[in-house]
Amino acid sequence: MTDIGIIAVGGYNEMGRNMTAVRVGEDIIILDMGLRLDRVQIHEDVEINKMHSLELIEMGAIPDDTIMKEINGTVRAIVCTHGHLDHIGGIPKLAHRYAAPIISTPYTTALIKQQIESERKFGVKNKIVTLNAGGIYQVTKDISIEFIRAQHSIIDCVFAVVHTPEGAILYACDYKLDRMPTMGEKPDFDRLKSLGKEGVLAMITESTNSGVPGKTPSESIAHDLVRDVLLGTEESDVGMIVTTFASHIARINSIIKFATEMGRVPVLIGRAMDNYVLTAKELGYIDFPDNIEIYGARKDVDKALKKIVNKGKDKYLPIVTGHQGEPGAILPRIANGETPYTIDPGDRVIFSANVIPSPMTEGNRYSLETKLKMRGARLFTDVHVSGHACKEDHWELLRIINPEHVIPAHGNINMHSSYIEMAEDAGYVLGNTLHLLRNGEELYIEE
Ligand SMILES: [Zn+2]
Repeated sequence: MTDIGIIAVGGYNEMGRNMTAVRVGEDIIILDMGLRLDRVQIHEDVEINKMHSLELIEMGAIPDDTIMKEINGTVRAIVCTHGHLDHIGGIPKLAHRYAAPIISTPYTTALIKQQIESERKFGVKNKIVTLNAGGIYQVTKDISIEFIRAQHSIIDCVFAVVHTPEGAILYACDYKLDRMPTMGEKPDFDRLKSLGKEGVLAMITESTNSGVPGKTPSESIAHDLVRDVLLGTEESDVGMIVTTFASHIARINSIIKFATEMGRVPVLIGRAMDNYVLTAKELGYIDFPDNIEIYGARKDVDKALKKIVNKGKDKYLPIVTGHQGEPGAILPRIANGETPYTIDPGDRVIFSANVIPSPMTEGNRYSLETKLKMRGARLFTDVHVSGHACKEDHWELLRIINPEHVIPAHGNINMHSSYIEMAEDAGYVLGNTLHLLRNGEELYIEE
């Protein structure tokens, strides 16, 4: 029989820099290679694309994969489940150390390629393999990777299954059980159920929102919330700005459609908007109306904002970056009066995003909201639903999959303990069938 190890490399003590390794005898599959952005942003003037891995590991920004040297085995594949930076942002710094292909879905693959191209310190030459949801990739004679369709706050997200001679290992980071998505299809419940019936040795699952009671609302609820704020008003002739996650293609697609319904020109503004949305367009995930305008580079942005003010703010719907108050992003620059777009009293600013719970973003966001209010803006905050499963969704997935072992990942210890309480309710026993791992630890699964 083959012995199985699950190695928590990163993302078990914190949010971000996710990386897990599954060891099957002497073959290793890496799941995700993420970046913890707030550890980079806390320093001024860092140019991450020129930095060395060891420096970034020391900052806690990328997973400390130096522990992999102590693991007896060879990495055979690097698998990424979706294109968020906390899942792919470590690739330019770490992937070249492993002679293994990087496997991901088409949209994720395109984002990984952009990451690799913008890297200035290392050259990542790994083979890149595109695998669609529903597909299987044979890694070695005994190990294959299967992708199962999921839903999350970015398109083309999957559950990854590592099939081993000892059974399947399901990696469920990140997901929501959205049965009414506005883009793509609902998660593949049929396959999840059949997988559960076949028997699952272990499930590694995100714990992010496991302490939040109930069920995560569908993206179709967010669609209605945003529509109600944008169209449900008698003050339809004022300036309106929407800000949301540039990578949230489904949300941006809804907002673009609402702009047309409002008789306004949708204008995507900010470098990240340019990257994520144009990539989705190139791959055929999203259609644009003919009148859409997109501006990424700084000089184009200011020119466009000037044009909007000259022609009339009520004729446009700017969709901009900067909802977390990130210095240098578009909305904070508008709030600071650094652009030609001025906020007049009564103008509306819609935050189709939550506040990421870290002291730094909370501080940035507070400053942003205060500056906007001082200029007379009316604020609509949290017009948003989460992309992460809540407690009862976790309960449901756990019961569908019915794994022998469960390991919460992708969260801090408070998030893991919420998951552990829920899993105990489902009959799992901590230290026996339910496992709390910290970064750097390996769990040996023995039959
Ligand atoms: Zn994610």
